[in-house]
This record gives sequence, C-alpha cells and structure tokens, in this order.
Amino acid sequence: MFESLSDRLEITFKKLKGQGKLSEQNIKDALREVRIALLEADVNLNVTKAFIRRVQEKAIGVEVLKSLTPGQQVIKIVHDELVAVMGAANESLNLANQPPVVVMMAGLQGSGKTTSTAKLAKRLIDKERKKCLLASLDVYRPAAMKQLQTVGEQVGATVLPTEPTENPREIAKRALEEAKKGGFDVLFLDTAGRLHIDEALMSELADVAALVNPHEILFVADAMTGQDAVSVAKNFDDRLNITGVLLSKTDGDARGGAALSIREVTGKPIKFLGTGEKLDGLEPFHPDRVASRILGMGDVVSLVETAMEKVDLEETFKLQEKLANKKGFTLEDFLTQMQQVQKMGSISDLVGMIPGAKQAMKGKELDVDDKQIKRLEAIILSMTKKERQKHALINASRKRRIAAGSGTSVQEVNKLLKQFVQTQTMMKKLGGMGGLGKMMKGMK
Ligand code: GDP
Repeated sequence: MFESLSDRLEITFKKLKGQGKLSEQNIKDALREVRIALLEADVNLNVTKAFIRRVQEKAIGVEVLKSLTPGQQVIKIVHDELVAVMGAANESLNLANQPPVVVMMAGLQGSGKTTSTAKLAKRLIDKERKKCLLASLDVYRPAAMKQLQTVGEQVGATVLPTEPTENPREIAKRALEEAKKGGFDVLFLDTAGRLHIDEALMSELADVAALVNPHEILFVADAMTGQDAVSVAKNFDDRLNITGVLLSKTDGDARGGAALSIREVTGKPIKFLGTGEKLDGLEPFHPDRVASRILGMGDVVSLVETAMEKVDLEETFKLQEKLANKKGFTLEDFLTQMQQVQKMGSISDLVGMIPGAKQAMKGKELDVDDKQIKRLEAIILSMTKKERQKHALINASRKRRIAAGSGTSVQEVNKLLKQFVQTQTMMKKLGGMGGLGKMMKGMK
C-alpha cells in the first residue's frame, strides 16, 4: 500500500531539502505537489483540502528549528498530520468487557468479512489464548456458512452449526447463549453482505445489533475499492454506529486513499489491515508507523516485529555473519534467504520498510511467490556444489544442463542468476547500512 503516494512525496521533499530557507512560496509549491499526490492516491477531496490547510497553517510562520533543515521541518509537519488524520495511536479490539465479548462483522459481500473473522479469531487464539466462537448469520448464502465453518476450524475456533432456514436474529441469540454457556471469551458474528448498500440488509443488521448489543461492530472495507470503501463505511456507520474498521486487501492496493480518508470521514479508527489471502495476513494498524512508511522513512518497528514472528533468526544471523566475514554471498545463501524472506511476505514490502533501501532497489525485480520458490529451489539444487559457490562458472552449456535437470528453462535459470546478482548487491548495501541481522540482533 501507498507505493505511488510515497514515491511522489519523496520527489517533492527532495526538492525542498535543497532549499536553505523555508519561505511562504516554497512551502506553497511543495504543498501543491503534496495535494496532487494525495488526490492521485485516491484520498477524499475534503480530507485532502483540510489536510493541506492544516499543514500550511503549521508550516508557515513557524521558526525553522536550528537542529532541522527546512525540508525536514515540513516533512515532520506532514508526518504528524498524516498520523493525526489516521488516528494517532493503534486502537485494538475492546476486550475489556465481561466475556463473552461480542464482535459483529459487517460489510459488503466480497469485502473479506469471513476471511477477516477467521484471521481475527486466529490472532486472539494464538496470541492471547482466547476461546472464540464464530457464527455465520448469512442465511442467504449457504456457501458463506460453509466457508466460515472451514476457515474457523482451520484457525482452531469453534464454529456454531447454523442452517439457512433460520433467521439471523435467532442465530445471533442462540450464538450469544452458546457463548455464555460454553465459557467463550469472544463471539464473532459474521453477517450477510450484499453487493451494494441495501435497505433490507441494513435494517436486518440494525435489528441484530439491537438484539445482541455488540461491544464491537467492525466494518470490513475493501481497500482496493478506494473512495467507494469510504462512502460505504460512512453509510454503515450512519446506520450501525460502527466501532472501527478493518481495511482488507491492502496487499492489492498501491494507492492507500481509503486508509487515509476513512478516519476523517467516519470519525472511526482503522483497527486492522488485511494483508493477504492467507489466514495470518492481518496486522494491527499503527498510524505512526504507516505515516513513516508513506514518507519513505521506513517502518523498522513493523519490519522487526514481522521478522521476529516468522523468521528463523539463527539462519538470518548466520547469513549476516557470513557477509560480515566477507566470505561472500553464494547461491546457497540466496536460497536460504529466499525461503526466509518468503516467510515474511513480499520482498518489495519488506524493502519498503527498511530506511533508505527502497530508493536503492527501485525498479528491481524482487517479488517471489510460493511456486517460484519451488522452481528456484529445483534450479539451485540442480547445480553442482562448485557452481553454487561460484556462479560465474555457469556458462551456456551448464545452464542447459541445469534447466534440464530442474525441469525449467534456460530463461528461468538466467532470471534466477539475475535476481541473485541483484540480491548480492542489495546484501552488500544492507551490510554497509548495519544490516538486517545486526538490527535484529540488537532486539534479541
Ligand atoms: P465476504 O463475502 O465479505 O465474507 O468476503 P470473503 O471473506 O469471502 O473474501 C472475499 C475474497 O477476498 C476471498 O477470495 C478472500 O480470499 C479475499 N480476501 C480477503 N481478505 C483479503 C486480503 O487481505 N488480501 C487479499 N489479497 N485477499 C483477501
């Protein structure tokens, strides 16, 4: 998310960095570009106008602090305003109530409600040892009930058996009784969605909410729908008084307009981001970290947290040590590293989180998916030990042999070698910047 906005702002601020003094004119010029950047990122027009006005008021007439350059000063003001617009601090689910805490999930069909329900339950089960009950109120789509059953069981939650012949209010009541009887900590109600806002659906949801009085009504917004997500959120909020937003599919959204507009338009915080189809693709939303990421300052805290959760630190340290000892980065290391990185998420996302690395890696082909990793593994394993250690040995005839041995093509072998060389360059750069391993070692 935010790639395009981030790139534009980077250029704008670069110009400002060269200026010795902050004048009304150069602030105005910079803010005009920030305004265009925000609109291009699909940020709501009113939100953009208010944002620019606030930054301008703060920037003009402010004494440039001796310790800062004018460019840094404006970036700091924009950063703080971005944080303010997205909601200051992370707000999590309100679990402080007497259990069972009732969380109602609402949103349009296909926004990601069912998937997100399972993701949230997984998080609570794995991280907080909560006992979760899930119930589907979608009596219109038996497939949706089945889907909740499947994903719910996958994450170790209990799923209430329901029938399409029941009425949603009955199911909600039964689920609440069951949650009380069974000593559940959290009850998730996965409600029905429609393709568009629909009066009948809204009144059904309002009825259910009035009946069970949920502690949380989370609106699931599809980030890829941009401004539509914002207006639908406003509609749901007007009707249901939502307590927060889960912004799904942020992995498919390069612009980030919904993330920057929803809070300002609805007054309700984004609590979580959906970051992938898999059931661990969920992150708490931290406005300050996201603002830093947008401004290309790198979201080191999230990077380290992701890394700590998923990666075999020993492997990473070994790799880092190897680089520090200048033994060189070989194709075998490349394979290990790819396998590690794959666990963390896409490489470009990660690179975006490392301060300074984004610019260095611009335009490089870095992303890998599961299938690619398997092919990559096959190619590297079809090389001789010598070849793995010294990739320069791999000439045309060796490439043909490796391609045949791994069931791939010479083009693929070439592509891998190209990626390897790019990564080798990146590793050298990171090594010079202190490196990922060192950074994580400091956290240990
Ligand atoms: P519902 O109709 O609102 O319950 O939506 P679903 O949970 O069935 O999700 C609709 C589609 O979106 C499914 O194919 C999900 O796999 C996909 N999806 C949900 N959340 C995410 C996400 O964060 N990232 C991506 N890429 N896909 C998601």
